[in-house]
Amino acid sequence: MKFYRMHVLVAEDTRSIMAGAKRVEEALVEEIRLAGLEDEIRVVPTGSLGFSDKDQVAIAIYPDNIIYCPVLVSTVPEIVEEHFLKGRIIKALAHPMEQKEVTMEERTSENQMNLDIQKRILLENVGKIDPENIQEYIAADGYVALEKALFSLTPEKVIDEVKKSELRGRGGAGFPTGLKWQFTRPNPGPVKYVICNADEGEPGTFKDREIMEGDPHKMIEGMILAAYAVGGTHGYIYIRGEYALSIQRLQKAIDACYEYGLLGKNILGTDFSFELCIHSGAGAYICGEETALINSIEGKRGEPRKKPPYPPSQGLWQKPTLVNNVETFANIPAIISNGGEWYQSIGVEGSRGTKLFSLMGDINWKGTIEIPFGTSVGDIIDNIGHGVRYDRKLKGVILGGSSGSLLVPEELNTPVDFHSLAHIEAGPGSGSIVVMDETRCIVDICLNIAEFFRHESCGKCTPCREGTAQICHLLEMIASGNGLPEDIDHLEKISQTMMDASFCPLGQTAPSVLRQALKKYRQEFLDHIHNSNCPAGVCNMNFTEEV
Ligand code: SF4
Repeated sequence: MKFYRMHVLVAEDTRSIMAGAKRVEEALVEEIRLAGLEDEIRVVPTGSLGFSDKDQVAIAIYPDNIIYCPVLVSTVPEIVEEHFLKGRIIKALAHPMEQKEVTMEERTSENQMNLDIQKRILLENVGKIDPENIQEYIAADGYVALEKALFSLTPEKVIDEVKKSELRGRGGAGFPTGLKWQFTRPNPGPVKYVICNADEGEPGTFKDREIMEGDPHKMIEGMILAAYAVGGTHGYIYIRGEYALSIQRLQKAIDACYEYGLLGKNILGTDFSFELCIHSGAGAYICGEETALINSIEGKRGEPRKKPPYPPSQGLWQKPTLVNNVETFANIPAIISNGGEWYQSIGVEGSRGTKLFSLMGDINWKGTIEIPFGTSVGDIIDNIGHGVRYDRKLKGVILGGSSGSLLVPEELNTPVDFHSLAHIEAGPGSGSIVVMDETRCIVDICLNIAEFFRHESCGKCTPCREGTAQICHLLEMIASGNGLPEDIDHLEKISQTMMDASFCPLGQTAPSVLRQALKKYRQEFLDHIHNSNCPAGVCNMNFTEEV
């Protein structure tokens, strides 16, 4: 193996590639070659380095622990000349929010990415290893947990450790993972499925993508461990077709696992066998619901099934099936390596471990973050997101996706954990935090969300199919200055009916943000209706629609 003095990691997640990361990588390789440094400096693609602003490419330089962002093809010669040849930091290429004077020693990748208040367990390798090289994952203690489980733990003991960790599913519902595994294990039959729900479809949520693009083996190792624990024989990763780079990297990771004896028959020489493949979906939001997802794999229309029976007893092709999401599986290797008690020591009562969030909206720093449960929303916005952009006033926060909840500024001291959030009718949901500043119109935001759900409703049940359309229509009328005073009452009644009578969680949660908006920002709706006035100046109030 060749020794390199320095490694340059180029962030090549989907967003960075769209911003030109491949061209930056090519330019780096060429400039390094021209400088005669190709035997000393190696350029490696990696996952996200945490910068999610569009048009920005970031690179990390090791062992100097320096991140430059934004990097353009035109700035590459300067980096090679100044940093690689002369050993000087280019301060102008520092992250825009890091303007203070720093020396090479002071500047670490950790403080650039605001990692001091984050805790990276799931993202520990993202931005540090080549996700397409299994050896780099193994060098970072990858597959150590699998080896430990196969050679020193019984399947029951693996389940015990997961139960001890108090890990709750990260797909939204928060069901205890160990309990779900315990329910799945005793169900008999020669075939048992393990499915990873990688159908991340909530607008503004991309944290699972970050794992799949930046450290796919971690999730796969979690799936293999789950299969060992519950007696799984076959696995599927159900992933939306739009996640092309995730699919590509997961497939490479699966191929490497087969080559290294980590998948297939007699894994690592034991009598445990597990086959794994990818199933690409067509991008329907409803297929994030586990039974709709199972229908989709079976080649049926992606509609939810009646429960019970639940998947652990009768799932895919009526066989026992365990379904967990990407983030849940990615937690498992660390739990097995370090023990359930170690994991249980992180976070707060009832919400153990760390949680990933996609931090988005009108904020200075955007990206995927990993925080221990118990961190407040306000802390996340101020200390990780560096506050509301352009020093504007904070209007509110949509937490947990479009089907999540709406928080007003007075609620931002709430710790992010299942219990505390439940007190304000909120939850971590899909794992997104969308910050809204004072220039946003709440009616417009609700209309946007309503249009999304009208489009994504599968149409199987009337409350959701008709309710999403009705809500859209009423909000369109209000946003165009044609709303009536009784429309607010109608919106509340329709929302309540959808919550009470819809067949699946999509319809039950589709009006969540609207319901809270009608309570917390009622005056803004009344302004639109009574005064034909959009206080934020967003809605076109002169438009008249024929009724
Ligand atoms: Fe389909 Fe909506 Fe009914 Fe769910 S609630 S079954 S998505 S129509």
